[in-house]
Amino acid sequence: MITITNLSKNFSDGDRHSIVLDAINLSVERGEILAVVGPSGAGKSTLARCINLLGRPSSGSIVVDGVELTGLRAAELRVARRSIGTIFQASHMLSRRTAAENIALPLEYMGVVREERDARVLELLERVGLAQHAHRYPHQLSGGQRQRVGIARALALRPSVLLADEATSGLDPDNVESVIALLRELRQDLGLTILMITHDMQMVRKIADRVARLSHGRIIESGPLLDLLVDPESQLGNLLLPSPS
Ligand code: ATP
Ligand code: MG
Repeated sequence: MITITNLSKNFSDGDRHSIVLDAINLSVERGEILAVVGPSGAGKSTLARCINLLGRPSSGSIVVDGVELTGLRAAELRVARRSIGTIFQASHMLSRRTAAENIALPLEYMGVVREERDARVLELLERVGLAQHAHRYPHQLSGGQRQRVGIARALALRPSVLLADEATSGLDPDNVESVIALLRELRQDLGLTILMITHDMQMVRKIADRVARLSHGRIIESGPLLDLLVDPESQLGNLLLPSPS
């Protein structure tokens, strides 16, 4: 579970200060999929980077599975990071490593011994449906397959929370479908808590339990997907409705 309270993030560049996240309050229950939508520059990736500890919040608190992330020391951060997996935009793989070797990276980094690492990588390859492609290099995989390698890598340290920042952008519709199916399965089988950032409203309709809309660093509307869809007054609901064709 993720609980974000009064989270703010400022960037200062010389004497110019910008408020990129402004007192965000947000929570994602265990096993829930929250979609965060909003225009480019709204602060979505900055929010994800505060949660996965790649960026430090300026103020406020982030609690993941009972652990307050702000204010942790380096050694504690290393441990906390394990509970949060991140999927980045498509095809973020090291080109000189095979699919299996890419997935093994976080395990190597954590010093997991060879035997255990190999077993874990195999299990992950099976989970994302790539067991036959274990020894392929990124250029020998499709965009969707590369993205599934990215998902397997994000799961390597058995996180309880998965962050997906534009995980399906650049993928064709079939590959988007396969990533959606995989995320659903992960939520179902592993009870993962998923925070998904996307521009793809169709994807949001298919998979999100709740949706939050971010604009200029603030949450301007949020609620359960179904409530938003049936509320004629909801701007977010209107954005989510399929466009007439
Ligand atoms: P997109 O949909 O285009 O990915 P986003 O909602 O993810 O947009 P962010 O990447 O979070 O947007 O950026 C939000 C704002 O913060 C932008 O105005 C950006 O220029 C600014 N910003 C992000 N990182 C930094 C940084 N390291 N230093 C200064 N400003 C930054
Ligand atoms: Mg972004």
